[in-house]
Amino acid sequence: MHHGDTLREGETALVELPPEDVGLRFIGVIRTPFLTRDDCPRQGCDDGPECRLELDPRFAPALDGIETFPRIEVLYWLHEARRDLLTQSPKSDGAVRGTFSLRSPLRPNPIGTSSVRLIRREGPVLVVRGLDCLDGTPLLDIKPDRCAWTPEAPPKPAG
Ligand code: SAM
Repeated sequence: MHHGDTLREGETALVELPPEDVGLRFIGVIRTPFLTRDDCPRQGCDDGPECRLELDPRFAPALDGIETFPRIEVLYWLHEARRDLLTQSPKSDGAVRGTFSLRSPLRPNPIGTSSVRLIRREGPVLVVRGLDCLDGTPLLDIKPDRCAWTPEAPPKPAG
């Protein structure tokens, strides 16, 4: 894991970041037992510890119906990640790969996604298992997991 601005052998970074294009609204915060990046698993798993998706109460009505899904997809903002790396050496062994061929947290838009088990809802809070992020990671979005979901809207004509 990278700390600060140092680059490993073979890694490259943007000299200047392009301007930002859109704004985002954090919908809440994720509470996990992982206090440092070294504490976090590389990817969450179904028998991981219980974590809490604590929504801003203003968004609580947007959770209605979520309890019917055993799995949900969670999107979050990996807020401590650097955003300028083009190539990375994840194992620090000189083997270098492009950022978009990795699931590294270090990317231009540090969005993390996980498919997690929904354990229960407590008002504006969802308790889940399967996350891999730091305590305090901002929450971006929640969706039914695509495998457990069928469209509510009529089919679209094939195009
Ligand atoms: N499951 C997500 C995905 O595939 O998009 C994230 C995977 S990423 C490899 C998970 C790692 O990101 C963790 O092991 C930890 O090192 C790091 N991480 C977790 N939370 C972070 C945060 N808020 N900011 C920066 N890095 C974070």
